Amino acid sequence: MRLTVLGKSPSWQDAGGACSGYLLEEDGTAILLDCGNGVFGKLRQRIDYVDVDAVVISHLHADHFLDLVPYSYALTYAPRQQPVPVDRWPGTDNPARPELHGPPGARETFRKVVGCWGNNDLIENAFDLTEYDESSELSIGPVRVTFQEVPHYTETFAMRVSSQNGSGEIVYGADSRPTEALTRFATGADLILVSYDPDQYYPVMHALLKADAAGRLRQDVLGDSNRRLSSALAARPDGTAATSPKR
Ligand SMILES: [Zn+2]
Repeated sequence: MRLTVLGKSPSWQDAGGACSGYLLEEDGTAILLDCGNGVFGKLRQRIDYVDVDAVVISHLHADHFLDLVPYSYALTYAPRQQPVPVDRWPGTDNPARPELHGPPGARETFRKVVGCWGNNDLIENAFDLTEYDESSELSIGPVRVTFQEVPHYTETFAMRVSSQNGSGEIVYGADSRPTEALTRFATGADLILVSYDPDQYYPVMHALLKADAAGRLRQDVLGDSNRRLSSALAARPDGTAATSPKR
């Protein structure tokens, strides 16, 4: 399973950066976890947007879903998505329509956002939209996604993404505050991504480390230690963190 950090900024994206967005690729399947502002452009640098199988949104804060708007415009109006020939594109009867999984209330929230300019059904028409809950279990190609509600300012779900091919398990904590629920949910995962604040979140890192006796937490996947990874913390086995401050 390959993880690419497309965006990791706080609610205001870094210069040239993007808010939360994590691309998971496994055996030909591509899944985007969150789609905050700036993520769509970063996604296009990495893969073709029509090749994304599913987008899963952790919660309904702008920095986790706002780029569903340009993504929806692309799926709706791009020449290659049209039923008739346009420019060099031959026309298609099967335009890309990725799955979109959002938390309870996602449809209504998306309608409000794009409804501001009278385009209420833009997102739900562009994507195959469903709402999940904590008991849901998604199967997307060889990948299984389960959920755990975690404390944040709005209803928010951590996700556990497991490869059915045995190539790893990743837990994405979204913007969770420190909580035993996330600690339990993340135990045994190969990689855990959690929102990081030096004061607020350090305790949960230790809790996670303590919970995982196998010491399988790793920082290698996240690479560049100069990135804050606003929604991602790379924890070393000794409990130190590789991050940079908000800017
Ligand atoms: Zn949030």
